[in-house]
Amino acid sequence: MTRTTHTIDDLRDAMSGSVILPGDADYDEARAIWNGDIDRRPAVIARCAGPADVAAALSHAGANGLEVAVRGGGHGYWGAAVPERGLMIDLGLLDTVTVDPRARRARVGGGAKLAQLDAATQEHGLAVPAGTVSHTGVGGLTLGGGFGWLTPLHGLSVDNLESAEVVLADGRCVRASATEHPDLFWALRGGGGNFGVVTEFEFRLHEVGPIVHLGLMFVEQDRAAHAIRTARDGFGALPPGISPGIACICAPPAPFVPEQHHFAPGVAVIMVGFGSAEEHAEALGPVREALDPLFEAVMPIPYVALQQMLDEGAFWGVHAYSKGLYLDALPDEVVDVIAERLPGRTSPLSEMLVFPFGGAFAEVADDATAFGGRRSMKYVVAIEAMAPDAETLLRDRRWVRETWDALLPAAVGPGSYVNLMAEADDGALRSSYGADKYERLARIKAEYDPQNVFRANANIKPA
Ligand SMILES: Cc1cc2nc3c(=O)[nH]c(=O)nc-3n(C[C@H](O)[C@H](O)[C@H](O)COP(=O)(O)OP(=O)(O)OC[C@H]3O[C@@H](n4cnc5c(N)ncnc54)[C@H](O)[C@@H]3O)c2cc1C
Repeated sequence: MTRTTHTIDDLRDAMSGSVILPGDADYDEARAIWNGDIDRRPAVIARCAGPADVAAALSHAGANGLEVAVRGGGHGYWGAAVPERGLMIDLGLLDTVTVDPRARRARVGGGAKLAQLDAATQEHGLAVPAGTVSHTGVGGLTLGGGFGWLTPLHGLSVDNLESAEVVLADGRCVRASATEHPDLFWALRGGGGNFGVVTEFEFRLHEVGPIVHLGLMFVEQDRAAHAIRTARDGFGALPPGISPGIACICAPPAPFVPEQHHFAPGVAVIMVGFGSAEEHAEALGPVREALDPLFEAVMPIPYVALQQMLDEGAFWGVHAYSKGLYLDALPDEVVDVIAERLPGRTSPLSEMLVFPFGGAFAEVADDATAFGGRRSMKYVVAIEAMAPDAETLLRDRRWVRETWDALLPAAVGPGSYVNLMAEADDGALRSSYGADKYERLARIKAEYDPQNVFRANANIKPA
């Protein structure tokens, strides 16, 4: 049983980590998150070093009526990790990744970043599906689902979760797995941060790389509709070891981009090969020829470099806003809407990403996890405004909303991937999860967090 940590001194005495308050030298750095548009001032930041620290922080928040928020990697779009005048449970110290190569398992601290996870697992030629930007946090990404380049081969991050160590709202620390608290384990695999603070994730690992094959073909924006259509048609016939994506971006000033094309708006058709170079070349051939790209990067690269390829386009401190959609198909009319909307963005960092789902993602039963979305869905679309300043963001936020409105009639509903929502209202959440899943989650929430302590998130109200 955790003793009540009523005063700040009680909290400091109870914690092995540190307590940061307004006015402290490191306060501003500690409250900053990835989205530079979020500027909130927590009353207390508890930098936790383990489950006992998390329990002490929860006790302090309860005794003082402070709203609780949890910060993993700080990449949540709407800044749910930073409570205005509340208590932030900062998991940044919990970033250890321990790999057991024989058992093919990784134990990952609740505040670790994808870069740390990838680096530790790749030392053994292993990996687990995670996101496409390496400074994203494992915590928030996994609890919402977690998709990335390995998803067509091995499913979502949650599909590879073996167990989790969780501090519950009442301060108890439990392990959730298929055999211990199975209902909680189900809810953690997609239900977001609603059910407790995960201090450690245990993942199953797969053999990956260390060298994989990148195929990136960039087509100028004037031919966006042609590029997206060609990609869609080509992606329909891919063998299992190829992972595709469409990124409507501006060409980054990267070494593989000819200087005259730096910042050129266009469509990057990406096909990553996890098998042999020959298989990759064979799959790439017809798409490459039909695209007639402006430039391309087709080369073997380390898996960790693939995972960092999009990092700089989404740098720390950028002002951001995002909305997502799920599509059951990508008909020509939808391609045309996307192509027509692209020139409307102001910031060269704003982007639209279209990731096809399928493969191992689609082989998991809908009710096997709490992931918000059907496994039969064919595409997830992320419409993202990113700008160097708040003013430009205002303009591109409008672009995101109007683009989302234009695509909504073709989408499966207003709900989408919970981790892409910059605003998660109850209606959108119910639409993401569907009625049955939402109600099951609400019942589990009522059991594990009846007071809704963990509500600074895509919140599921206790039944
Ligand atoms: C640049 C960028 C790229 C992205 N790319 C992808 C991608 O490729 N694939 C993908 O699936 N998603 C992607 N996302 C979305 C990402 O999954 C979410 O933004 C996610 O919330 C980030 O998690 P975090 O821990 O970094 O964020 P945080 O802001 O720290 O956390 C978000 C919320 O998650 C909860 N949370 C976090 N950690 C814990 C924990 N250990 N225990 C309990 N609750 C916790 C809390 O409720 C918290 O408020 C991307 C986001 C960004 C900004």
